Amino acid sequence: MAGKKVLIVYAHQEPRSFNGSLKKVAVDELSAQGCTVTVSDLYAMDFEPRATRKDITGAVSNPKSFNYGVEAYEAFKKGALTSDIIDEQKKVLEADLVIFQNKLALVSLTTGSTSEMYMKTGVSGDYRYFLWPLQHGTLHFCGFKVLAPQISFAPEIASEEERKAMVASWAQRLKTIWEEEPIDCTPPWYFGQ
Ligand code: ZN
Repeated sequence: MAGKKVLIVYAHQEPRSFNGSLKKVAVDELSAQGCTVTVSDLYAMDFEPRATRKDITGAVSNPKSFNYGVEAYEAFKKGALTSDIIDEQKKVLEADLVIFQNKLALVSLTTGSTSEMYMKTGVSGDYRYFLWPLQHGTLHFCGFKVLAPQISFAPEIASEEERKAMVASWAQRLKTIWEEEPIDCTPPWYFGQ
């Protein structure tokens, strides 16, 4: 889909890792489609993940009892957040599609456990359970429509062949990503049947 803007939020320390490969095929495939692809490489940027008072420039309105939510919202309205946050907000606003390539988060993630362990009867429980706070509580709450997650199960214990197949299926999915309908991000999707 030429002209679409894609933001990939990428969090891994090693570019030659499996996660690095997933990020690379996404950049390659989407760029080949004519999309403008931006990568926020959080480790390379040394991005500050904590929510602290330092996120706000200038004076806070109640320094005696600091309330991050209130102060950050005030600062947002005044344009007084730090530039690293404003830059990322701008990227999210401009993007048509945001892919979180993150060990912990969503849409495209890798796991330590196998798919069997992430079944309802497995030791980790249904994988949809752990996606609930991320996909629904965070993304949907913030106004995103959520596409089905891309989960690469246990690449560390998979064979080289299996890892290649996982990267290839991600690249294949991206070819038609713009035709996908969002999931029905409601409790039945996560906890139904
Ligand atoms: Zn939802």
